[in-house]
Amino acid sequence: MQLWRGRMMGQIPEPLFGRLSAAGYRSRTLAAIGRALQDGELLRGEVERCPNCGHKLRVRPDIPQAAIKIVSDWLEEQDGGKAPREP
Ligand SMILES: [Zn+2]
Repeated sequence: MQLWRGRMMGQIPEPLFGRLSAAGYRSRTLAAIGRALQDGELLRGEVERCPNCGHKLRVRPDIPQAAIKIVSDWLEEQDGGKAPREP
């Protein structure tokens, strides 16, 4: 688990990582964000399944809204830097 978290946290670019840790997010959330960045699914949550038949009970979001905001703001800034809209 620790190794997995470390690997997922390593997916977060350093400046973004700095913002998130300044905002107080710790390894569990950071690992979820790293995974989200890797597969491009920020809003994915942990799916809870019925232990008997396995059907989906609910999705528990593993990234708080405020953290998603920090990440998407940052991603937007990156897009702006790479592809300026004004000539
Ligand atoms: Zn069931």
